Amino acid sequence: MNTHRRDAIISLALLAVGTASCDTLPFAPEVAMVTTAATADADPNAYPTVTVGSSDPHRFQFEIALVDQGARELRSRILAQAERWARIVDGSDLEDIDWEPGTVSCGGLEHDYQRDVLDDVMVMVSVKDFKGGGGLKTAICGYRESSSLPMIGAVVLDVDGLPQGQVDDFFLHAFGHMLGFGFSWRYRDLLRNPSSEDVGADTHFPGVGAIAAFVAAGGAHYPGPKVPVENETTWGSVNIHWRESVFGEELMTSGLRDGVADYLSAITIQSLADIGYTVDVEEADGYTLPGASAVGSSIAAASAIHIREEVVTGPAVFYDRQGSAVRVVRD
Ligand SMILES: [Zn+2]
Repeated sequence: MNTHRRDAIISLALLAVGTASCDTLPFAPEVAMVTTAATADADPNAYPTVTVGSSDPHRFQFEIALVDQGARELRSRILAQAERWARIVDGSDLEDIDWEPGTVSCGGLEHDYQRDVLDDVMVMVSVKDFKGGGGLKTAICGYRESSSLPMIGAVVLDVDGLPQGQVDDFFLHAFGHMLGFGFSWRYRDLLRNPSSEDVGADTHFPGVGAIAAFVAAGGAHYPGPKVPVENETTWGSVNIHWRESVFGEELMTSGLRDGVADYLSAITIQSLADIGYTVDVEEADGYTLPGASAVGSSIAAASAIHIREEVVTGPAVFYDRQGSAVRVVRD
């Protein structure tokens, strides 16, 4: 099984550094382990994969490849945001996928992945100048056939001109998608009335946990179908975010506040339970829907940095436990 050689496995407690945003929780060093594995015959140009999450293989882990210098310079900040999600879904034991070591491509990124199992989600991260584009790009290229949850994803961030606190917010948002937020919905029959087919449709996410949390956050009298998903292209990428005009300062809307941290709500965490994760809702930020308070949603929406053209489209490949591609879905 595990035939490839590893000459060094270095484990160290991840130190809480570089979180300028006061809404970003510090992590618990006793839980947050970073493991760097290098292969014996490693190419000096290859980047090591970093494991973020519990050291227990039956709990959740991200395997993160920082594929360029820009990403490596932001290492501690990137890993800190991934770590928060890893804590939220720590109790999840996703199916391990046997893997043939070699080059993995996703979202325009490549990584020489030298492990023979995918446990649980491998994410390539790049930080570079889009040359006129700016913002965030995300992609999920590989899913488990058994659960429709991601196993291979990519995040590309252009940090040029972004305030430091905003960088953390973008990475936190991006790693939410790497768990399948937005992306796995349609494969789990949890995306209703998608707006790509009918612009302006009343797109929504009918997961029972997210609906209950939405009601608890002040959405009891919301008049439409719950939970409302972005359906307005002017606010950003439709079908994969909460609706900006309803959620305002929530993290997983299609817009992020300018210069301040957004709220990672219990609605978002419960939506992860709805798609199959075991979650810890205690990790949620206190959050109330803006329509439920004196703050108008139109005011909140006006101050957002909108995440447009975020999704890098491409074929979604579904793998079985043995790592065989059993299905390809093309947009
Ligand atoms: Zn997004």
